[in-house]
Amino acid sequence: MTASTKDIEKAAGVLRAGGLVALPTETVYGLGANAEDPAAVARIFQVKGRPPSHPLIVHIGGAEYLGDWVEDVPPTARLLAERFWPGPLTLVLRRGRRVPLEATGGLETVAVRVPDHPAALALLSAFGGGVTAPSANRFGSVSPTTAGHVRAELGEAVDFVLDGGPCEVGVESTIVDVTGEVPSILRPGGVTREDLEAVLGFPLAVPSSSLVRVPGQHPSHYAPRARVVLVEPGKIVTEAALAQELGHRVGVFLPPSLTGTQVKAHAVVAVPSSTAAYARGLFGFLRELDRQGCDLIVASLPVEEGLGLAIANRLRRAAGPRPSTAPGLQER
Ligand code: AMP
Ligand code: MG
Repeated sequence: MTASTKDIEKAAGVLRAGGLVALPTETVYGLGANAEDPAAVARIFQVKGRPPSHPLIVHIGGAEYLGDWVEDVPPTARLLAERFWPGPLTLVLRRGRRVPLEATGGLETVAVRVPDHPAALALLSAFGGGVTAPSANRFGSVSPTTAGHVRAELGEAVDFVLDGGPCEVGVESTIVDVTGEVPSILRPGGVTREDLEAVLGFPLAVPSSSLVRVPGQHPSHYAPRARVVLVEPGKIVTEAALAQELGHRVGVFLPPSLTGTQVKAHAVVAVPSSTAAYARGLFGFLRELDRQGCDLIVASLPVEEGLGLAIANRLRRAAGPRPSTAPGLQER
């Protein structure tokens, strides 16, 4: 599904007028504003409830415009942009003068990417500038992968929701910092580490949890209302049954290896065996278990290779400690 020309024009008009547009990308839906309009950018933070020190990604219409937004483009950045754009790869580079500090959380670096979605590219082309956009959800909650998710969560706070159908990739972009001598992954995502390494010809460091500048690195992020508990795959069925007996309304992420197993739970999601399908469905599964009234989700981590690295990262964050939840299963 792709958006109509009329909708694209309307969305571009909203951006020009300093408004907010929720836009489809291949990763998740973004909450977009004119990257060069500090007041519009400030509204993104307000609507999301996101601390202003947390930088946003500037979306541009093609790799050929990269030089307009950053101070310089090192050869590694050029190589990665040529190979992976449009696509779920974000490059962190030195901030160009066009980018206001409001968009970078005060940093002298800026994150840039070219989204691989026909409606996003059509919007960027009609608008003619950069669109800065984090995921179109409230800070800390589950990212939206359909226009319906955005409407349900942000409603009237967004001036226009451009519906481009469900997101193909389903997890956020991979963020690679190319400002230093050696590029490093700040957040795993839709482009795999293996694919990056194959192009670069050397290994990349696995993201460290100490990178507080990246919101995805906070202890709790991508979190549904239900508490998420991670256990070994072999313990999913017993943990779920125990929690259910203790009075929880348990949602289960049933791994493909356990397909067909009877589970005592309130709701069960069958985890797809392909990691691409799992990534595509992940945030929707979390939302669905919330919708069904689960208060506890029992899941296990996939093997951390390929897209499994990004899925495991999101699940760990979803299960991360929350500021104000009552003690329970997780602390046993
Ligand atoms: P979101 O997934 O909604 O949080 O989208 C923005 C992501 O890009 C966040 O994880 C940001 O921290 C990250 N990001 C944006 N700009 C920078 C930057 N200059 N350095 C590091 N990470 C950045
Ligand atoms: Mg986000």
